[in-house]
Amino acid sequence: MLQILDSTLREGEQTPGVYFDKHIKLAIAKMLDDIGVDIIETGHPSVTQEIHDSVQIIAHNNFKAIVGAHARSLKDDVQLALNCGVDFIGIFYCVSDDRLNTVFKKDLAEAIIQITDVIKFAKSQNPDIIIRYTPEDTVRSEFSNVVAVSIAAVEAGADIISVADTTGYMIPGTDRSMFDYISKLKYELNSRGLNPKIAVHCHNDRGFALANALDAYRAGAEIIDASVLGLGERAGIVDLAQIMMVLTADFGLNNWKLDKLDELYQFVSSHSGVPIPGNYPIIGKHAFTHCAGVHTHAAAINPTHYESLDPQLLGKERTFSLDHMSGIASIKYALSFIGETKLSPELQLEVLAQVKNIGQKGKVVELTELPHIVHFIKQNYKHKQKSK
Ligand SMILES: [Zn+2]
Repeated sequence: MLQILDSTLREGEQTPGVYFDKHIKLAIAKMLDDIGVDIIETGHPSVTQEIHDSVQIIAHNNFKAIVGAHARSLKDDVQLALNCGVDFIGIFYCVSDDRLNTVFKKDLAEAIIQITDVIKFAKSQNPDIIIRYTPEDTVRSEFSNVVAVSIAAVEAGADIISVADTTGYMIPGTDRSMFDYISKLKYELNSRGLNPKIAVHCHNDRGFALANALDAYRAGAEIIDASVLGLGERAGIVDLAQIMMVLTADFGLNNWKLDKLDELYQFVSSHSGVPIPGNYPIIGKHAFTHCAGVHTHAAAINPTHYESLDPQLLGKERTFSLDHMSGIASIKYALSFIGETKLSPELQLEVLAQVKNIGQKGKVVELTELPHIVHFIKQNYKHKQKSK
């Protein structure tokens, strides 16, 4: 059963300039819980007292979701997370030869001892705690190192191994395929009788985060990390609404309340200062807006002519934009919304001309403006009739 881990409060706060106050963090966590997110990653308690306090408060809110915290592979970090009362701790430690040699000054065996000691410590303090171990930058680390540390971590008690594409390096369909990577890692673990859950953390540096996450899912990953607006380091990670929508619409899952996503996105956007582009998939203002005349004409007959996702899944309606691209079909359709079904073809053309005129100035005619255009055109028509 696939689980979605939302990391808006942890990874998302690593977006330059983004900071959520404690009460905003709690409000975001509540919205995520209402949507049905399976795991909420709330932060790294050792970073600041403020983060520690918000992790603690969220952990004590009796959410349906599993509440998690981040920790380095250090007993102090883990103890702090345990003290917060979380259900889940994500421990990370990179095991690439390069990082071991230049940063940690340890060999692989020493690193494995440190990692497994910390995992055993966490489990000894709370046997029910769910432990995820992440070999940071997994996909660019030596595969044999990843296999060795994963085996040791699971034997020490880790429940989840997370494959991190920390730099957004993977490309679907190439020799850097996430599908192949997850398949190989699962084989190595399963063939030794080890069956941890496999999680995946995909960064979006090349714009492939969502595609790589789906590749991982197809290969058997059971947890996908995401965040609202894809917030995170650099180009961020998988976008929460996009992964939920695709899994629902295309992969037959039905786990989440998608109609609550819009409110969450508006809230996070306003409190992060990160705007939602109009053409942003799923959530953008224009994500379900038809514009060109031929599109509107076809979509008004049958929406699937120019849509492959149903806006009703999100509790939204498709809309039609009136501007210089509009055709007479768009105008007739829009007129029907404002009760002007009896306007003569001649006046409909005048409305179209005026809409195109406004559109050429780079503006869009909203439905609320349309009655005023119609009123003007009707008055102008009467005036011309009188003066004949
Ligand atoms: Zn990350």
